[in-house]
Amino acid sequence: MIPILEPHLSGNELQYVTECIQSNWISSQGKFVTQFEEIFEERIPNYHAVAVSNGTVALHLALVALGIGEGDEVIVPNLTFAASINAIMYCGASPVLVDVDPNTCVLDPQQVRQAVSSKTRAIMPVHLYGFPCDMDALQQIADEFDLLIVEDAAEALGSQYRGKPVGSLGNAATFSFFGNKTITTGEGGMVVFRDGDIADKARMLRDHGMSKSRRYWHEVIGYNYRMTNLQAAVGVAQMESLNGFIAKKRAIAKKYSKALSVIDGITPPLEVEHCFNSHWLYWVKIDTSIVDPQAIAEELIKAEIETRPLFYPLHIQPPYTAVKRMENLNSSIMLANSGLCLPTAVTLSEKDQDRVINEIIKIVKNLTP
Ligand SMILES: *Cc1c(COP(=O)(O)O)cnc(C)c1O
Repeated sequence: MIPILEPHLSGNELQYVTECIQSNWISSQGKFVTQFEEIFEERIPNYHAVAVSNGTVALHLALVALGIGEGDEVIVPNLTFAASINAIMYCGASPVLVDVDPNTCVLDPQQVRQAVSSKTRAIMPVHLYGFPCDMDALQQIADEFDLLIVEDAAEALGSQYRGKPVGSLGNAATFSFFGNKTITTGEGGMVVFRDGDIADKARMLRDHGMSKSRRYWHEVIGYNYRMTNLQAAVGVAQMESLNGFIAKKRAIAKKYSKALSVIDGITPPLEVEHCFNSHWLYWVKIDTSIVDPQAIAEELIKAEIETRPLFYPLHIQPPYTAVKRMENLNSSIMLANSGLCLPTAVTLSEKDQDRVINEIIKIVKNLTP
């Protein structure tokens, strides 16, 4: 089976984890946690990094540290992984579902503007599948209405917008290191904050809300959101490979786009000059009047090639049917029905990618009337 994504742990991961075990520093204190945070601070200059136990709590911690809670509305795309909206709901804040751009899968700024109300406190742009959101337009709206921006960059480590890394485009940003993400620590996450005082508050909240100067004295109700030294050891090693991973994913994307753009009914993802896409997961749009994406997926599985659809729109899923939303969600519905994600693991060989391409060409030909 050619996997859609898989971890690639072929650098110093084993050596650094062994160091943790031999030195007995396996819990959430130890040099790798600090190192891992410092590496993020180098890549995202002038931001303060806080390592946490996964990408979902990273989002929750970012929102809580920024003071978002009950009575506040947060604008979130209707097409994203559930963690984005769940984190808003964990804080007692109210999500507002907004449509995405039909060509890029990310927040449509015009729709965001229409969704702003007197209760809106923040926008959560999600750089879905690695494509950076239109941050200039979103920042303009944020400035105009005095809103915070919390980037969900879980799928976009290494992507850039106008030459700036994602994660450096708002008040806070979060990353995920789940097993299928661009880099992995098994489970893990990172939050970066523009404001150092808010980052300090997040560190306090990450550790049970405990006072920095007085141990076992709790200032507020906090959480245990700490990352372990073992996870961070894997993370430090993975970061040494990051540039290579991104180059590989971009090469995979380029090859798919070239080969698949000639097929009638398949549209490769849009390339935008000022948006450097790290292509965490490559997807294509399929014209459902010509061929059914699900039928393609079923044929590909028979050929031992794993694919996956895009996310289901949030507004139709049971926990979110009562969530406030904009009336027009057509693009997220269309994309959910017509998108297909293809194998984008950094371990994908040239030969295997050729096989994926050839199978798709053959299958589409057979399925097209
Ligand atoms: C992976 C992901 C997260 C966080 O996931 P965890 O599994 O908790 O690390 C959040 N948002 C998006 C868009 C994601 O893809």
